[in-house]
Amino acid sequence: MPSRPVPQPTPETQHFWDGTRAGELRLQRCLDCGAIYFPPRPFCPACSSGDVEVFAASGRARLASFVINHRPAPGFEAPYVIALVDLEEGPRMMTNLVGVDPVPEALSVDMPLEVVFEAVSDEIQLPLFRPAGGSAS
Ligand code: ZN
Repeated sequence: MPSRPVPQPTPETQHFWDGTRAGELRLQRCLDCGAIYFPPRPFCPACSSGDVEVFAASGRARLASFVINHRPAPGFEAPYVIALVDLEEGPRMMTNLVGVDPVPEALSVDMPLEVVFEAVSDEIQLPLFRPAGGSAS
């Protein structure tokens, strides 16, 4: 099976990939206006302040919307779930769901999810989500 494309860390995203390797989902918070945001960037998207900090999110989220993709893609076994999840801290993230059957009956908008990390290279662990408190898989 061909491997999926591996993200390349940049100076702006290095803290995020360091975090996933450490088992943390890292977000940024603006120290001026309090906005919490993702994806990583050195300036607050709300007020443009450069006074921002990195912190570890809870890893808890809710399913905002999803698409079940039946077409094969590099590194994925079809069908698989492409999901938009709303993190507990607020930001929305595009990801994939694991640990759940890729059928509409198994998925519901607003279902609670938790982050898991999957290594796709020596450097990169991708954040994926699975149903919260579910199976040990
Ligand atoms: Zn701000």
